[in-house]
Amino acid sequence: MTDIKNVTVLGTGVLGSQIAYATAYAGFDVVAYDIDDAALATARERFDRLVTTYEAEVEGAGDGKAKAGLARISYSADVAEAVKDADLVIEAVPESLDVKRATWQQVGEAAPERTIFATNSSTLLPSDFMEATGRPDRFLALHFANRVWVQNTAEVMGTAKTDPAVYATVVAFARAIGMVPIEVKKEQPGYVLNSLLVPLLNAAAALWVNGVADVETIDKTWRIATGAPMGPFQIFDVIGMVTPYNISKGSDDPTQQKFAEILKRDFIDQGKLGVASGEGFYSYAG
Ligand code: NAD
Repeated sequence: MTDIKNVTVLGTGVLGSQIAYATAYAGFDVVAYDIDDAALATARERFDRLVTTYEAEVEGAGDGKAKAGLARISYSADVAEAVKDADLVIEAVPESLDVKRATWQQVGEAAPERTIFATNSSTLLPSDFMEATGRPDRFLALHFANRVWVQNTAEVMGTAKTDPAVYATVVAFARAIGMVPIEVKKEQPGYVLNSLLVPLLNAAAALWVNGVADVETIDKTWRIATGAPMGPFQIFDVIGMVTPYNISKGSDDPTQQKFAEILKRDFIDQGKLGVASGEGFYSYAG
């Protein structure tokens, strides 16, 4: 086990709410921070939905355990107050370097010396803003995947300045909250998962956009030949269209830009967002 008892999660959006709840569910005391009372009211609704989800999808959560987790969460709209007793702070505020830097500066000034700092950033490297924390040796990335109760990888990635003892504590913490820790040994944009997944999805998009093969054929090839349960377009449907659209639109590659145009025109603008909306590359009606 770890020396960690009190955990503060900064940001209670899509991922922050899941991280905070998973941590409380595992028995830790959690302070959930967000910018104001309105954001915290939304957080409470997210946590209530997570209780229902856990009761339905997580074995053993039904015997009062999911509700007991909820009771271990307290709420704060004041960063300094939120981190004052924290052993570990996990940050899941918006993916903006300015917001991350400003947030970590406030945390670094207010948190006790012992506190460990972790960011859930998907696309920024921890070294991009480690100095803002004032203690880069106690800072690293702890990167969760959406739907943490099922897709339970937690990628742990330090910088050249991260203290190995801090790294080991965070690996143990990840395990203690039911995640499978993925030890990333050096800084890598996209960690392990997206370093593998993004090139696969880009290649699938290019095969389709260039008319080499249709969606079903590309997916079938990947499933049969590798034994994978899903092909790349089934994965697009699970991720939803908006993130792939943003990534492809930002690419210099004309094929990826064409893919972005198609995603916008034929999917996003038609309300076809994938599994979540019932239709994407495939139909999920019923
Ligand atoms: P989100 O927009 O759903 O949530 C962000 C939360 O941060 C909001 O509740 C917002 O009110 C709050 N917040 C706190 N401080 C803020 C400030 N100073 N300014 C504005 N808002 C502030 O975002 P998300 O999808 O949960 O992503 C959060 C982080 O987690 C990002 O770094 C993202 O890269 C990472 N992440 C997201 C996913 C995902 O699938 N959504 C997966 C892994 C990692």
